[in-house]
Amino acid sequence: MVSFITQFTNFLRRGHRCQLCHLPAAGPHSIWCQHCLARFPCPPYCHHCGHTLLEDADHCGHCLNAPQPWQRFYRAGEYQFPLRHVIHQFKFQRKFWLANPLGELLAQQIDDPAPLLLPIPLHPLRRLKRGFNQSSLIAQVVAQHTGSHLDTQRIKRQRYTPPQHRLSKVQRQHNLERAFILTDKPLPSHVALVDDVVTTGSTVAAAATLLHNHGVERVDIYCLCYTPA
Ligand SMILES: [Zn+2]
Ligand SMILES: [Zn+2]
Repeated sequence: MVSFITQFTNFLRRGHRCQLCHLPAAGPHSIWCQHCLARFPCPPYCHHCGHTLLEDADHCGHCLNAPQPWQRFYRAGEYQFPLRHVIHQFKFQRKFWLANPLGELLAQQIDDPAPLLLPIPLHPLRRLKRGFNQSSLIAQVVAQHTGSHLDTQRIKRQRYTPPQHRLSKVQRQHNLERAFILTDKPLPSHVALVDDVVTTGSTVAAAATLLHNHGVERVDIYCLCYTPA
């Protein structure tokens, strides 16, 4: 009996261990310890395009020459260990509950939240294969923290597009032409698009352009990481 109780309490304690290093977690609801959390890389970055910089800036050399079709860019951190490892588990090992701590990390960065959050949709075939839309799960957690309204149906994919990072810039633009459609409902002047990892930026750019064409004045991008291809 005693050994059963010991085993049971050990089992409960394991639930409060850091999922990266197995030391005690930072709190009853945290899945990481303070030491690991401190190592989640979040260096300064450009608040327009998302490039890592030596200090935070509203614009940088990358985007002054070629501004993006959105206004503000927020990211949870840099695509390096341990954040990279956790995102990989979330997306490819179906550990969808990791949306909670990841969404919280992102929400902490957002100082001027948009009233409406639109997650970048997956094509229905890709969603069926993965079983969930990772961007919707992240957006749900961010919305809980920022008090924004979440709409997972407003923007839809109308055709299947192959992964962007395998294509040239011209192919990417062609690939994304008319990739998204908006359902017929009024939009506020400030909207945020939520994506898990922004690589080339062309997917969020296509969606942001569509929003601007429908009268949205300010489009923000919320993502976990930016990894320029
Ligand atoms: Zn740890
Ligand atoms: Zn920039």
